[in-house]
Amino acid sequence: METAEIQRRWLTYFGDRGHSVVPSASLVSDDPTLMFTVAGMVPFIPYLTGVVPSPFDRATSVQKCIRTLDIEEVGKTTRHGTFFQMNGNFSFGDYFKEGAIGFAWELLTSSEADGGLGFRDSDLWVTVYEEDDEAYELWQKVAGVPTSRIQRMGREDNYWSTGQAGPAGPCSEIYFDRGSEFGPDGGPAVDDTRYLELWNLVFMQYAIDNVRSKVDFDVVGELPQKNIDTGMGMERVAFIKQGVANMYEIDQVRPVLDRAAELSGRKYGADPVDDVRMRVVADHVRSALMLMTDGVAPSNDQRGYVLRRLLRRSIRSMQLLGVKEASFPELFSASKDAMAPAYPEVASEFSRTLSLATSEEESFLGTLEAGTTILDVAVSKATDAGQATLDGDTAFVLHDTYGFPIDLTLEMAEEAGLGVDQERFASLMSEQRDRAKQDAKKKRSQVADTSVYREFRQHGETVFLGYDDLRNESSVL
Ligand code: ATP
Ligand code: MG
Ligand code: MG
Ligand code: MG
Repeated sequence: METAEIQRRWLTYFGDRGHSVVPSASLVSDDPTLMFTVAGMVPFIPYLTGVVPSPFDRATSVQKCIRTLDIEEVGKTTRHGTFFQMNGNFSFGDYFKEGAIGFAWELLTSSEADGGLGFRDSDLWVTVYEEDDEAYELWQKVAGVPTSRIQRMGREDNYWSTGQAGPAGPCSEIYFDRGSEFGPDGGPAVDDTRYLELWNLVFMQYAIDNVRSKVDFDVVGELPQKNIDTGMGMERVAFIKQGVANMYEIDQVRPVLDRAAELSGRKYGADPVDDVRMRVVADHVRSALMLMTDGVAPSNDQRGYVLRRLLRRSIRSMQLLGVKEASFPELFSASKDAMAPAYPEVASEFSRTLSLATSEEESFLGTLEAGTTILDVAVSKATDAGQATLDGDTAFVLHDTYGFPIDLTLEMAEEAGLGVDQERFASLMSEQRDRAKQDAKKKRSQVADTSVYREFRQHGETVFLGYDDLRNESSVL
C-alpha cells in the first residue's frame, strides 16, 4: 500500500465521520515558542487549550513534522525520521475516550477491501496509563483487546502535559508486534524495536498544577471541556504495510537511498555501517527538501542552522560512502520526484531549493577540504605523542574558523581512534559567547531597533513541552 493510499484512507475515514479535513500547516510553526511543527496537534494548540474557540468539533489532518531531537536515532532505529508525517484526529469537547479508541481500532483493523488498513487484531498491543482504568476497560469493551495485550505504564510513558500548569491527561498507545525475530516476547513495556509504536491517543482530561517535573505534579481537577488529540506515524504504518524493514525504505524515501547507493557504487544491505549512512542521507535530504520548500534557508541560527546541519550531515555521509564530488543535484531530484505527488509545492519551488542546496554543498565541500587537513595534522601529532585525545583548542579553531560542527570533529577524531578534550572546547566556546554578548550589549546601546535580537531570544528560550520530544527542541544546536 503506497503512502499516498494510507493518507487517502486516513482522510476519507475521518472525513466520513464528521471531521473537518485540515491541510498540513507549514513546518515553520506559527507558534513563536516552537522552532518547527513537531506534532500534528501544533496547529491546533489554541483550540486544544481553549485560548481560541475551535471552529470545528472534530478535525483531521496529515501534518508534516520535523523532530531534530531524533536526529541521532536516524538510520539506526527503524522508526525515527527527522521529517515525518503525523496523521491526527482531534475532538474539541466532542467525542472522548470511547470514540477515539473505537475509531483508531476500526481504521487499523478493518480489511483493506473495506477501506481500512488491514492490520490483524492479534498483531496489535496497547498501553494505557497505569491509573486509567477507564481506558483499560474500553480497549476490552470497544476493541475486544484481551488483557494479555494491554499494558499499564507510568507517567513517564503514558501521561501527556505541556510541562506547565494547565490541561493534561493520560494517553494510550497502539503498538505493532513485528514478530519474534525482532526481539523478546513481553510487549512494548519490554521491547520497543520488536513492538513498534504506531499511534498515540491523548485524552486531555485533567487540569494539573504545582508542576515539579514531567512526572511530579498535582492533578487539581477535571477539565470543563475534554479533548482528544491523536497522532499516528504515517511512515511507520507505511513501512509495515509495504513489507520493508524500516521507514527509510518506503516509497517516499527509498529512491534517495537507492540514488546514494548508486552514486557510491556500494550496495545497500552489504555493510551495516554503510547502510546507516545511506539511510541518513535518504532521511536528511528529504527533511532538507521539505524545509527549504517551506521557506527555510541555510544559515547560522535557529531553523537555518538545523537545516544546515541536515545538509552537512548528508554531505559528510556521502563522503564516508566514498563520494568525493557533489551529489545534491541527483539526490534532491530523487527526493523531489518521490515527494511531489503528495506535495506539489516541492516541484514548483524546486529550482530555488536546489540552488540553495547546491551552493551549501559547494561551500561545505570546500570547508571539509580545508578543515580536514588541519584535523589530520592535529590527529597525527596527538597520535605520535601517544595521546588519547585531540586538544580542545584545535576543535575550537575548526569550529570557529573552518565551520566544523563539533559533532563532525568528534566523529572524525573517533575514526582515528581519538577522543576530544570537550571540556576545553566548551570553555573556549563559552568565552566566545561571553564576548559576543558584550558586543551585542554595546551594539544595543548604539542601535535602537532590537527586534531581531528579541525574536532570537524568544525562539531560544521557551519551548512548548507538548510531547516528550518537544523538550529542548533547540538543544541539538
Ligand atoms: P518513539 O517512542 O518511537 O520515539 P514518540 O513516543 O516520541 O515515538 P509521539 O510523540 O507519541 O512519538 O508521536 C506520535 C506518533 O508519531 C508516534 O506514535 C509515531 O508513530 C510517530 N513518530 C514520532 N516520532 C517520529 C519520528 N521521529 N519519525 C517517524 N514517526 C514518528
Ligand atoms: Mg514513545
Ligand atoms: Mg508516543
Ligand atoms: Mg520519540
